[in-house]
Amino acid sequence: MTVFFCAKCGVELTPDLVELPAVPEVSGRDRDRDKETRLAPSTVPRGHYAIDPEPWGAPFTPPTGKPRPHHPRRLLMPPELTDWTPTGPRNTVVVHPDDLPDLRLLDQGGPHRGCCGPLGTGGRNMACGCGVLVATLAADCMGPHELHLDPVRMYAFDTKGAER
Ligand SMILES: [Zn+2]
Ligand SMILES: [Zn+2]
Repeated sequence: MTVFFCAKCGVELTPDLVELPAVPEVSGRDRDRDKETRLAPSTVPRGHYAIDPEPWGAPFTPPTGKPRPHHPRRLLMPPELTDWTPTGPRNTVVVHPDDLPDLRLLDQGGPHRGCCGPLGTGGRNMACGCGVLVATLAADCMGPHELHLDPVRMYAFDTKGAER
């Protein structure tokens, strides 16, 4: 069990969460999306977290011409960044957005907003009460539904005793 805190102000960002061995595979099937919001089910269920070992989110590098490996949870990209490769931080902590109700979404607008929610392609967009952007939310009707805590803007405390 682990609790995550803001590295700046020390506030508790999450309840006690159980680690998953890996980021869950998501179906990406249209029929699994919410009938009204069209939002995909959160990649990580409530009460859990998973470490994403791959570089995730902004910044992105231009396509090289080589085919990219298939990524089932690939972000929906703004048109001008189609096929760009994420080179954001490794080891982000993927959580259920509803487990962090106190974070505020900074509406980045422009190309990083989908038709009904943030694409998550514009960098960190979720602020702690102290103002620091601690996480990135992707929650549009066509992409994945994930909240990624930035590994350098929070710290984890193992509630069984040892700090990680
Ligand atoms: Zn804070
Ligand atoms: Zn949408």
